Amino acid sequence: LPELPEVETLRRDLAERCLGWTLERLALSGRRTVRRHPVEALAGVEGQELVGVDRHGKFLLLHWGQGDTLVVHLRMSGQLLIRPPAAPQAPHTHAVFAFATPGGGQEWHFVDPRTFGELFLLGAPGPGGERAADGGELGHLGPDGLAVTAQQMTRALAGRRAPLKSLLVDQRVVAGIGNIYADEICFEAKLRPDRPAGRLRPAQVARLTDAIHAILRAAVLARGSSLADEQYRDVDGRVGRYQLAHRVYARAGMPCPDCGRPIDRVPFGARSAFLCRRCQR
Ligand SMILES: [Zn+2]
Repeated sequence: LPELPEVETLRRDLAERCLGWTLERLALSGRRTVRRHPVEALAGVEGQELVGVDRHGKFLLLHWGQGDTLVVHLRMSGQLLIRPPAAPQAPHTHAVFAFATPGGGQEWHFVDPRTFGELFLLGAPGPGGERAADGGELGHLGPDGLAVTAQQMTRALAGRRAPLKSLLVDQRVVAGIGNIYADEICFEAKLRPDRPAGRLRPAQVARLTDAIHAILRAAVLARGSSLADEQYRDVDGRVGRYQLAHRVYARAGMPCPDCGRPIDRVPFGARSAFLCRRCQR
């Protein structure tokens, strides 16, 4: 977490409420928050108006009036909160965006206890003046999870011996899916997360693609998932609701919603996969 549905919730809220706001000042305090290029590279965004908010996979793209794009990657524990001017800062606030708005002023607080999250300017030179290779900083990403087609999935999985879940969470295959939604997608598609990805039949790839869309869309409608740590919060600090709809993730021993057999937890890399051994093949 956060995965595609949480970042899409953030994108929609920002696009609905913040377009047209002018960034007066960007104050950065976390040394790790900007690490791809010198902090000064971001100063050019000050004075510009927010004209668009996009997303690709788990990356949020903020477009500014003079053509700059600032990327926000929340990684494990990042939050972007809309706060009134001069509101108290939560611990681990690493960046404050101060805006001039029609209502007088607003701020965004980028809060990130684990400091894996980052901000970077698309196309800005790195510390040694180098620029990103072909395709830019986001060029490695596969198609976005909400838009990926069965044809693209067929190509990406062909010949791969890795387990299905490993490829679903590989951002080069499809962008936006992580540990939680991969398990939910495999359950929806009635496919075991540990089966070899390259051996799916065309009908199974079609079912998998439909499951990716269905699960991600349902999770966006429920404004994402917040786990027991409640680390994921929306721009107003509220938790999501999709955790209440999880059918297998973190539900070991609880009955499968389709057949009643207890959900299994199996070791998967450094983490786990949750599945129903009867419903998933
Ligand atoms: Zn079952």
